[in-house]
Amino acid sequence: MMDAPIRYDCAIIGTGPAGLAAALTLKALNKNFIWFGSQQMSEKIRKAELISNFPGLCNVSGEKMAAAFRNQVESLQIVITQKTVTGVYHMGKYYGLLCDQEMFEATTVILATGVEAVKPIEGELELLGRGVSYCATCDGMLYRGKTIALVSTSAEFEHEVQFLSNLAEKVYFIPMYRNPAVNGENIEIIRKMPKAVIGLRKVEALDMGGEELPIDGVFFLKSAVSPSALVMGLEVEDGHVVVDRHCRTNLPGCFAAGDCTGRPYQYVKAAGEGNVAAHSVVHYLSEIV
Ligand code: FAD
Repeated sequence: MMDAPIRYDCAIIGTGPAGLAAALTLKALNKNFIWFGSQQMSEKIRKAELISNFPGLCNVSGEKMAAAFRNQVESLQIVITQKTVTGVYHMGKYYGLLCDQEMFEATTVILATGVEAVKPIEGELELLGRGVSYCATCDGMLYRGKTIALVSTSAEFEHEVQFLSNLAEKVYFIPMYRNPAVNGENIEIIRKMPKAVIGLRKVEALDMGGEELPIDGVFFLKSAVSPSALVMGLEVEDGHVVVDRHCRTNLPGCFAAGDCTGRPYQYVKAAGEGNVAAHSVVHYLSEIV
């Protein structure tokens, strides 16, 4: 007989300041949680040249702040699960979180995913699941022997490009960064941003600004996807998750913190909301038992 999956008290998605503050609070309050993201924490911390508005820290580099965050995580023995969550499903009394092809369960969720640096293009959200995908390992098999386009925001996804090029017959690779290091006989690099995904019931082509690129599917490889694409039924306004002052969303047991809930986009606001969201989780858990 297969073991039933662990049901965590909470799943935190995102390893920026919002996710970190939530993790520190849940750890201090002795909750059983799983934290998804990267051991490197957030790119938006590492990339900052000089941070001068975080209480107690005067003019530190982003690298230094990221290192301080990592030290705190390690010293408290908090585990980061290095996975990208590609879908969050409200199952009534708990949430199912899909990572690659693995499903995790948690009674509550804290969305601390930051904001997308790149906005979805026309047709991207409309054709999601019908030829548009955010997850190479989940959907790659569907494109065996087919023609696909890969739009990637960072070199960190190059292993996914190689993985997909081993399955597809033809890959149009559209990097949004300098000096991509991918190679393969079936990979054609295109240095132009697509304007829209075209298709009625399923993806048929990419609009490359006047010219159409016929494809069977397109993968957008980026570190954050729009919250409404991640969580079915989540209320979103102007691309931000709608929350109240307890960081509650419209879905029971689902909370959000940090840049994903709106401006100002700042570390201290993100960390503050992460803390509030974690306290709201604890309150919610105490009410449902
Ligand atoms: P983020 O820091 O964006 O972290 C979100 C994390 O979640 C990311 O690691 C992302 O990869 C991960 N994630 C997203 N989706 C998923 C998923 N589905 N599964 C798993 N993980 C996921 N603010 C200041 O206050 N002062 C400054 O000096 C300053 N300088 C900045 C300089 C630069 C260059 C930039 C880009 C931003 C700067 N900011 C500054 C803004 C600050 O970086 C953000 O406000 C802050 O990082 C937001 O924190 P967050 O936790 O909400 O999200």
